[in-house]
Amino acid sequence: MPELPEVEHVVRALRPVVTGRRILVAELNLKRIAPELSRASFGRQLRNALITGVGRRGKYILFELESGRMLATHLRMTGKFVSLTTDESLPPYAHVVFYLDDERRLVFCDMRQFGRMRLITSAQRLPKELNALAPEPLSDDFTEEYFLKTLSRSRRSLKQLLLDQTRVLGLGNIYAVEALFLAGVNPLKPANKLSKPRARKLYQAIRQVLREAIDAGSTLQIDMADVNGSYLGTTERFWRVYEREGEPCLNCKTSIKRIVHGGRSTYYCPSCQAR
Ligand SMILES: [Zn+2]
Repeated sequence: MPELPEVEHVVRALRPVVTGRRILVAELNLKRIAPELSRASFGRQLRNALITGVGRRGKYILFELESGRMLATHLRMTGKFVSLTTDESLPPYAHVVFYLDDERRLVFCDMRQFGRMRLITSAQRLPKELNALAPEPLSDDFTEEYFLKTLSRSRRSLKQLLLDQTRVLGLGNIYAVEALFLAGVNPLKPANKLSKPRARKLYQAIRQVLREAIDAGSTLQIDMADVNGSYLGTTERFWRVYEREGEPCLNCKTSIKRIVHGGRSTYYCPSCQAR
């Protein structure tokens, strides 16, 4: 499943393809992708819509329309966009097709069919699941003060708190595990028991792992025209602890441990992250 840094790359790849383009025809071929709209209404509401930009909130991709409305898309497990000429045949699982005014088509493919689209009438009226999201982790809104306050108000384990997108945005399992290692704190520690100096370290670590992930991803260009390309996750990333069970810790050579916590695999160094 793509995490926030990967979605950021999808947004960057989409921008040059769709910004300034008008949707001539919008075809919803699989109803469940946009459950709130009928096929007819999907087509009607997006016909002739001018795309003025592409933004992101958490893992939601936001196509900004001239009308002030937005088309929000969540890729979930296997959703992906490809850009095709009108001659090329549609790839498998092409559930939504936008015919653009440059004689190309933007196609949303999704093998597992968990991807979702919805129309948002204005930025001031965001749906609940978008409104509830914590501040963007790399923006000025995600302050150290906010983070310390959030920790002090929760008795949940740090690992679980970091995965709660309404408290701390942008960390999936991998990046949560990496940030905890970088800060040298135990994943099972109750959030409100973390010392202030450690909490500050963890705050820095969160921003560092996300920045690193975005930078690492920028070497992998998403080729929107490649129907058979793997799209995301083509680079072998190096992780500090994630999926390194039994391997030596990078700091102290202690063997990395794996536990299952809250239904997810958690990796940590029992020595560097003892407390
Ligand atoms: Zn260690």
